[in-house]
Amino acid sequence: MNFDYSTKTRELQSKLQAFMDTHIYPNETAFTDEINSGDRWKPLQLVEDLKERAKAENLWNLFLPEISGLTNLEYAPLAEMMGRVVWSAEVFNCSAPDTGNMEVLWKYGTDEQKEEWLKPLLDGEIRSCFAMTEPDVASSDATNICASIVKDGDKYVLKGRKWWSTGAGDVRCRLAIFMGKTDEDAPKHLQQSMILVPMNADGVKVERLLNVFGFDDAPNGHAEISFTDVRVPKENLLLGEGRGFEIAQGRLGGGRVHHCMRLIGVAERALELMIERTNRRRAFGKNLSEMQTVRNWIAESRMEIEQARLLVLKTAYLMDTTGNKQARSEIAMIKAVVPQMAQKIIDRSIQAHGGAGVSQDFPLAQFWIYARTLRLADGPDEVHLETIAKNELKKWM
Ligand SMILES: Cc1cc2nc3c(=O)[nH]c(=O)nc-3n(C[C@H](O)[C@H](O)[C@H](O)COP(=O)(O)OP(=O)(O)OC[C@H]3O[C@@H](n4cnc5c(N)ncnc54)[C@H](O)[C@@H]3O)c2cc1C
Repeated sequence: MNFDYSTKTRELQSKLQAFMDTHIYPNETAFTDEINSGDRWKPLQLVEDLKERAKAENLWNLFLPEISGLTNLEYAPLAEMMGRVVWSAEVFNCSAPDTGNMEVLWKYGTDEQKEEWLKPLLDGEIRSCFAMTEPDVASSDATNICASIVKDGDKYVLKGRKWWSTGAGDVRCRLAIFMGKTDEDAPKHLQQSMILVPMNADGVKVERLLNVFGFDDAPNGHAEISFTDVRVPKENLLLGEGRGFEIAQGRLGGGRVHHCMRLIGVAERALELMIERTNRRRAFGKNLSEMQTVRNWIAESRMEIEQARLLVLKTAYLMDTTGNKQARSEIAMIKAVVPQMAQKIIDRSIQAHGGAGVSQDFPLAQFWIYARTLRLADGPDEVHLETIAKNELKKWM
């Protein structure tokens, strides 16, 4: 599809494509090889080297409109390219959860908070995690979050247990954005606050790393973390007491859309792999791609990608022109549509590959995990469907 993108965006698209062709695809398996060859939790030299190259080529922090000068609509095709190799977004400092955390700091941080945390994050020197979900409560309803943030003189004291804090297994992770209650008696949506917690503060303990379908997602990982009487300066509070919900809504909008943009790339790549494989593999006297079932898979996948991409682009356009709040229904729609679409296409591609599809020789198994987990992370499908239904019904009341 050839949108009327600006010259600058088209130049960036070509530049990113060239970078992917020269540095990312040829190293796709080297990433896994390096992780499997030594300490799995050591930052990868391969990625660190590529980050320097990307920075030198100004392919850096493209996700942040205020820095890149790109709208969401212009960023979409770039994120799609990055999505085609699951680890590549970090090379361009465009990976979750840092992007969402940087957006929070950019939008809501004080000058001091920006200097201490945003700057090194934007430079790719440190990493961060977002600690909202708790093992003991149904966290898809964020009003359930019950960790506590209590004022004590010039400090806040934090208590609680979080899990699924993505990135907290990374040795470079220095910061957690922690969500908890500052006032249990306030109206429901004003009870929560967010606060910046250095990962090396006393009382912060990574209790264990969680596996995703048996994979550890090293070197970033997903952690269960206990916060026991963690004392942080009162200046670490973001925006103000009771504003946590507001920040969560602001943070999750952009993050959800970026995931969906990358997943379009994942789905596109899964389809390409399906076509390549079935065009050259023969069974029962013909190429697999000559079989009707496979042809239907190919056709259905193409239609589904095109539909989902258009919805993502419409959402990006609305975010740019009317703001995230107005685009709330569309954000919910793509978050429900895109991971399911990608999961279905990846599953077909796996089937078309036979046993090879679930092996380490193809990225499909990892793609599937990414798509499947995104039906939970950043809100489960059902919660997004509820948002859409509510907004639809409102129109008729
Ligand atoms: C790989 C991965 C990475 C993650 N990264 C992070 C992270 O970095 N930081 C963080 O804080 N969290 C993270 N999460 C957590 C994720 O956001 C939560 O798992 C998710 O919000 C659901 O919360 P829960 O697990 O408590 O499920 P629950 O709230 O217990 O919900 C369970 C199920 O109930 C159903 N349900 C819930 N509400 C409704 C409804 N209204 N209607 C119908 N059905 C409903 C859904 O099917 C849902 O899946 C991550 C999760 C995964 C799997």
